[in-house]
Amino acid sequence: MAAIRCENVLFRYPGESFALRLPALAIDSGEALGIVGPSGCGKTTLLRLIAGILQPAAGRIEVAGECVSGLAFAARQRFRIARIGLVFQEFELLDYLDVLDNVLLPYRIASVLEMDDAARGRAEALLESTGVSALRNRFPGELSQGERQRVALCRALVTRPGVILADEPTGSLDPENQARGISLMRESAAAAGATLVMVTHDHDSLDGFDRVVALPEILDRSEN
Ligand code: ADP
Ligand code: MG
Repeated sequence: MAAIRCENVLFRYPGESFALRLPALAIDSGEALGIVGPSGCGKTTLLRLIAGILQPAAGRIEVAGECVSGLAFAARQRFRIARIGLVFQEFELLDYLDVLDNVLLPYRIASVLEMDDAARGRAEALLESTGVSALRNRFPGELSQGERQRVALCRALVTRPGVILADEPTGSLDPENQARGISLMRESAAAAGATLVMVTHDHDSLDGFDRVVALPEILDRSEN
């Protein structure tokens, strides 16, 4: 079964000439998909559409059986927080929360999620398995970029999402940590049984992925 299905998607930013037209993209449940393509081709826009942060003007986007493109704003937000794990390029940790509280952030901001002992236990276990458990009481300003990325990954996984979307999640790491960060992300997604969609510049580190798609090749460029 497809975990993510995009059909005849059209999206434009108001007042911009850029248009994203995606006739079809299906991503299997449990698949690790890499997305590559030149800067400005629409990679981030596509991830935001799948996450329900943006809404297409036409077409349909389905995630884990839910038609996110048909949901109203608040319902999309609830769905995203509960069912999708997001990792951003700059990691977007909150400076005033320590590592453990950053990982548990989804539980602080979403009333649909209940912070119980199981959630705290998962947060601890994820910090352990990504090798940053000893840093649990530090603040983001006291971490290296590689450590921040691990914390962001733990936060994306703590709600046990079926889908993880990562937007150049290693962009600010040195080459060695990039490769390590990407394999850690793939291994963690696989261990959680989650579908992983990762945008990256770095083709080489997508070696173990099930599939790599060059975004421009699957877009309909006819009217651009
Ligand atoms: P990529 O992630 O592949 O570099 P993006 O999806 O960020 O590309 O951007 C695709 C196009 O949309 C670019 O031309 C960019 O300038 C434009 N764009 C991105 N974000 C916005 C926005 N918030 N408002 C208007 N235009 C945007
Ligand atoms: Mg981008």
